[in-house]
Amino acid sequence: MAESLAEAVSRRRTFAIIAHPDAGKTTLTEKLLLFGGAIQLAGEVKAKKDRIQTRSDWMKIERERGISVVTSVMTFEYEGNVFNILDTPGHEDFADDTYRTLTAVDAAVMVIDAAKGIEPRTLKLFEVCRMRDIPIITFINKMDRESRDPFEILDEVEEKLALDCAPVTWPIGRAKTFCGSYHLATNEVRGADTQERLTKVNDPEMASHRLPENEREAFVEELTLAIEACKPFDRKAFLEGHLTPVYFGSALRNFGVRDLINALGAYAPPPRDQVADIRTVHAAEDKMTAFVFKIQANMDPNHRDRIAFARVCSGKLERGMKARLARTGKLIGLTAPQFFFASQRQLADTAYAGDVVGIPNHGTLRIGDTLTEGEALVFEGVPNFSPEILRRVRLEDAMKAKKLKEALHQMAEEGVVQLFSPEDGSPAIVGVVGALQLDVLKERLQQEYGLPVSFEMSRFSVCRWISADNPADLEKFVTVRRGDIARDLDGDPVFMAQDAFSLRYEHERHPAIKMAAIKEYH
Ligand code: GDP
Repeated sequence: MAESLAEAVSRRRTFAIIAHPDAGKTTLTEKLLLFGGAIQLAGEVKAKKDRIQTRSDWMKIERERGISVVTSVMTFEYEGNVFNILDTPGHEDFADDTYRTLTAVDAAVMVIDAAKGIEPRTLKLFEVCRMRDIPIITFINKMDRESRDPFEILDEVEEKLALDCAPVTWPIGRAKTFCGSYHLATNEVRGADTQERLTKVNDPEMASHRLPENEREAFVEELTLAIEACKPFDRKAFLEGHLTPVYFGSALRNFGVRDLINALGAYAPPPRDQVADIRTVHAAEDKMTAFVFKIQANMDPNHRDRIAFARVCSGKLERGMKARLARTGKLIGLTAPQFFFASQRQLADTAYAGDVVGIPNHGTLRIGDTLTEGEALVFEGVPNFSPEILRRVRLEDAMKAKKLKEALHQMAEEGVVQLFSPEDGSPAIVGVVGALQLDVLKERLQQEYGLPVSFEMSRFSVCRWISADNPADLEKFVTVRRGDIARDLDGDPVFMAQDAFSLRYEHERHPAIKMAAIKEYH
């Protein structure tokens, strides 16, 4: 019998992995795909990445610097559930991309290096998750190395993140003697993920026999304390974002990964309701809705295509259907939506709420766009962050100004940079959150458009989106301060200031003008 829409939707688990660089996100992703059956050999993700990189010139930067710039999605099916992992760039210079990706997930896995505990980027990403009430599963990685005491790590999570911890498993042994995990509620023991088996034991004493004799007593004591003292897992508190289930493991040595997949299947929520301007959309509604959170160009230079990554929010997206693009009100044909697996892309005949599909297009779709089967609604919440760095683009060949304008417009639509056009007609200003984004821009302008450019300081260093309750106030401000006003890609006005001090000063002088550091796409 054909699966109902509600059933198909309830099997979806869409999540991201958040971590400080080096904590093991890439390794864990590989292992999730490996034990999830999506790939035969770990290493394929990296190999695949390399392949894409050599095919796409602009990703040279990524290769040279050994950082991950591109957000991608990978799908696998395991024990009845469909998992969509949304990868996020590790480097903070691409933080805006990461934040937008987090608008498209229902849960997150927080990877913590057992020797380091909570690191700055973990904290930042966690805060974004909390803003959106995204439930978090914690994976304490690298237990095969010298690590901090598990109780100490849990305390740190509770303190620094104000998040209750419920360890579901406990590590057996440490560093060289680390050999698996003990399930605190079921008294089951699991060794390496490659062995796949759970063994039921009666008590900590029995589990301790896996350890060298001199470590057993301390282990039994510690585990007994953990069982008695730690909070039990509470799914409601987890779903509300107050409590995180914690797993210990080693992605590199294949420990704890199956526990984690099982936890995602059992505890992580199915696709959430999504807030739109006129109403809340439920995932299991019949009609398809989706929004675009990421645009990626030239994944395959042979096709010179541009892929919009869209998260399906409700219903099912079928190949060949026509969807209404909210921004223009026009219909677009979804003729070749794609799924992404570890080793290939594949045409997506049907995608359900929770799934992420790539939609090839030639510039029709932008970040933040909403697609529906006709209803005029717009999803809220895909953020745009005010840039930290503003620069003028200097073209070596002045004859190519028009081409540059087009190229910058496209880059801005993809979310590579933000583009601001000053009201006084002076040349456009690009804005980025991190300096590496400028490198990507430079490289891509050179490679894809044959435009060698350099960057010049602008007399502005900060900017804010401006609005006012009374349109006349805004109009007046825009007219009087014409030299400091620019328009973003959507034509919304932005106030540009020399520095934070003058921004504050102007803000105080013009209380009717609201100045926002974050703009939500609409
Ligand atoms: P990312 O920057 O978070 O994606 O981290 P990677 O997955 O690239 O891992 C960073 C480094 O830590 C690599 O050298 C990995 O081999 C290593 N690593 C990852 N997981 C483990 C682990 O469980 N144990 C040990 N000992 N090393 C690990």
